[in-house]
Amino acid sequence: MIPQQGVDDARPAAWQAFDALPAGVCVSTPAGEIRHANPALHALLGYPPPDLIGKTLADLTLPDDPVPEGAERRLRRRDGSGLWVAETVAPFGDVDGAPLRLTLFTDVDERCRREAALQDRLLMKEALFDTLPVPVFVKDVRGQYIRVNDAFERYTGLDRRDLLQKTTFAVMDPGTAKAHAAQDRAVLAEESRARYEEVVPVAGGTLRMTSLSKVSFRDSSGNPGGIVGVIHDLTDSQPNEGRLEAILEQSPIGVSVSRRDDGRIVFVNTRFAELIGLPRDRLVGSRARDYYLDNHQRERVLERLRGSGAVVNMEVQFKKADGSPFWTLFTVNQAVIQGVEVNLAWIYDYTERRNMEEALRDMASRDPLTGIYNRRSFMEMARQQLARAHRFHEPLAVFVLDVDHFKKINDTYGHATGDDALRMVAGGCQAILREYDVLGRLGGEEFVVVLPGATADETRVVAERVRRNLARMPIPAPEGRFHLTSSIGIAGLEGATDTLEKAIHRADLALYRAKHEGRNRVVVYERGM
Ligand code: GH3
Ligand code: MG
Ligand code: MG
Repeated sequence: MIPQQGVDDARPAAWQAFDALPAGVCVSTPAGEIRHANPALHALLGYPPPDLIGKTLADLTLPDDPVPEGAERRLRRRDGSGLWVAETVAPFGDVDGAPLRLTLFTDVDERCRREAALQDRLLMKEALFDTLPVPVFVKDVRGQYIRVNDAFERYTGLDRRDLLQKTTFAVMDPGTAKAHAAQDRAVLAEESRARYEEVVPVAGGTLRMTSLSKVSFRDSSGNPGGIVGVIHDLTDSQPNEGRLEAILEQSPIGVSVSRRDDGRIVFVNTRFAELIGLPRDRLVGSRARDYYLDNHQRERVLERLRGSGAVVNMEVQFKKADGSPFWTLFTVNQAVIQGVEVNLAWIYDYTERRNMEEALRDMASRDPLTGIYNRRSFMEMARQQLARAHRFHEPLAVFVLDVDHFKKINDTYGHATGDDALRMVAGGCQAILREYDVLGRLGGEEFVVVLPGATADETRVVAERVRRNLARMPIPAPEGRFHLTSSIGIAGLEGATDTLEKAIHRADLALYRAKHEGRNRVVVYERGM
């Protein structure tokens, strides 16, 4: 018969003493059947006394993993909720010859809940750390690896069991390791973050360019704990968007991306905006076609794009916002970016080179002394005019001009003055000639002119004006100004088979006649000369 609390004063005196304890106490059989439970334990578990008597401790324990005696366990309250308690067990006399045990329960619920929450957070962080797809490592203040995640193992091909408690010197060449160690020290010393680019040996034995982010941390006592490092692979097949944009920004070549469907520009770099002379936000959304100088060139670009899918270094003129044209080397590739079909265009400003080339071409066609066409380019231009005259059955004439007694001018005033005289003769001719007459220097003090559309007689009038103009022209010399005269021979085009060479030859014959007749005159070629 089990004595009942509060009913039977025959209970052992010690049991009555427990009733006053603020901590929960029970006396149970070795099988766990409760023989006595004090009011504090009843209150802890939410039972009115003496309801706990007769229950077993197993009934009152939540079905967690088996908990060894004397440890912390969760008890089940009357309302089903759990309560963390710390238990202390001691043998306690016996009843009817059977040994009893005394268990003291201390409420540790709050502390345990806090610890469990902390544990959960730690577990979550550990799981996060290990499953993070980027390689992460933690080193202590001596530079020894103390943790690495799965991604780190995969990336470097290193097994964490071989790596932990070792420094970078154990896993890479001394030069690279030294660079890493120096960075670690700097981050630790300044308790800062750093991001720098460094090569890292990876699985397979190659080196990869990486961007390393490192940050220092303190341990739980507040002392420097080490550094956490994150590896970003830069040579990854997936290009880093920010990096790509930085490269585009620094490019000396203008870059634009436009949609193929409506031709609208969706991206330009700074250089492109500079070349066009508009801010980027004005360019984005506008149409690429608006920047071509002429539609003909644009058609040629489109034609090639349709044909071969790309345009490479084509010379195309674009226009700036103010309408001024500039030459470019233009390259276009077709691409699909984020599902949108686009034209990727690269424009290289070519104006200066192009201008220089034009100047060089021009220089090659000009006589360096007088600036008029040299013999070769005169012949080229004159031949075109002659072909045209034949085609349209139009008249054409040539005249050849030779300065009279030029040797004497050189002898009297010097070669430099002679040069000045030749420049002035060229200018004096040009002043009289029409825009489409072609003037050239045949050599020495001999000039030649082709006059499209003019007959020999009409040319005589022009030639006379030239001769008079030159004769009036004062030539400056150190000794004082002087005048010169010239003789001119003229030949008109003769028949459909006439050539430039033949015409010039006839003009030469007429010139010879002019010289012979006393110089300073104009003679038109006649048969028999
Ligand atoms: P003519 O009236 O018969 O034509 O007499 P000329 O003295 O003009 O005859 P010629 O054709 O024999 O002489 C031409 C001279 O022009 C010879 C050469 O010294 C000179 N000469 C040729 N080229 C140049 C040049 O570039 N500069 C200078 N200063 N003289 C030149
Ligand atoms: Mg002469
Ligand atoms: Mg001569």
